Amino acid sequence: MKKHIAVLAGDGIGPEITAGAVAVLQKVAQKYRHKFTFEHLPIGGAAIDAFGEPLPARTIERCLASDSVLLGAVGGPKWDGLAGNKRPEAGLLGIRKAMGLYSNIRPAKLWRALADASPLKKPLVENGVEIIIVRELTGGIYFGERGNSQDEAWDTEKYSVHEIERITRIACELARKRTKQVISVDKANVLETSRLWRKTAHAYAEKHFPDVTITDMLVDNAAMQIVKNPAQFDVLLTSNMFGDILADEAAQITGSIGMLASSSLGDGTRGLYEPIHGSAPDIAGKDIANPIATVLSCAMMLRDSFCRSEECAAIENAVARVLDEGFRTADIFSKGMKKVGCRDMAALITEHI
Ligand code: NAD
Repeated sequence: MKKHIAVLAGDGIGPEITAGAVAVLQKVAQKYRHKFTFEHLPIGGAAIDAFGEPLPARTIERCLASDSVLLGAVGGPKWDGLAGNKRPEAGLLGIRKAMGLYSNIRPAKLWRALADASPLKKPLVENGVEIIIVRELTGGIYFGERGNSQDEAWDTEKYSVHEIERITRIACELARKRTKQVISVDKANVLETSRLWRKTAHAYAEKHFPDVTITDMLVDNAAMQIVKNPAQFDVLLTSNMFGDILADEAAQITGSIGMLASSSLGDGTRGLYEPIHGSAPDIAGKDIANPIATVLSCAMMLRDSFCRSEECAAIENAVARVLDEGFRTADIFSKGMKKVGCRDMAALITEHI
């Protein structure tokens, strides 16, 4: 298999974690006799510094010519004073839009070796937790009309039937391979968009996925239930903003945001794979970031874009073995474990493939 992968390292810890993930992919290529080529492209603050804009046209062009895209993270205090559409984060929203990626899948998985790292009491998590958050990615309030005047500011939440149907399809397809249960999270007691969301998701699932059950939950209750009884969730379907917030909450019950991968897909197989965390400017350049979320994002790329479940499993098993052997980056470190840096953690995973 020959694949060309665009690498958007971005800012903060982005270059450190993507370097480790690329090394892991190179090992996979060597072991399974694939040919992966990597093309590094600017995005975010790094692109602002070099080209004056967060998403240069060439970055979009080359990502669209690639087989898949690996992204580190964007943003940092250096660019915080810039106007909204000039900020590094605009590059991230822009590349998702340009690639037509309307779904973001974030599995919040508690690894066996890290059960003690969860802030929840053991009985709540000891039987394992894996919440697959399916978040709508290119609609809703993050893309709605916005503005401000002297003493007012506004953002608009808007969803179409088409946008809700296509993300419902992604959630139902995933559920079909798992428990056939989807919990759809909204705020239908207040928001018109949520009422449309609820009606559309049910109608679509009834027609196309009669074997999948959709249950509704209000977002405030969902925020509570994720910490009260996380095991009740399997596939969680929700809008852009609710998904953004709930994914970080679900991430925390698994121990560290540094462990969680994500994939963003549209209608084709080309996807964008990235850790769910940000650029962590507080630890950038210190070789202490956890590269596992980015490495696991590569595993998702192999499975979801390149249809290589075996290679995906090889990465996941390598991560499990390194954790079982007691190696930990600072964010998941506990007494008695062996502390390693970002580079060494990536090297250990590479060795175990
Ligand atoms: P963050 O996720 O960068 O960091 C939150 C906390 O988690 C920090 O204490 C950080 O040190 C820690 N952390 C994050 N990733 C880690 C890792 N791999 N290993 C160990 N610790 C890790 O969120 P933030 O501090 O709110 O945002 C920092 C910048 O990142 C901001 O500019 C924000 O806009 C941007 N951001 C970017 C993305 C993205 O690129 N997808 C997502 C969220 C935030």
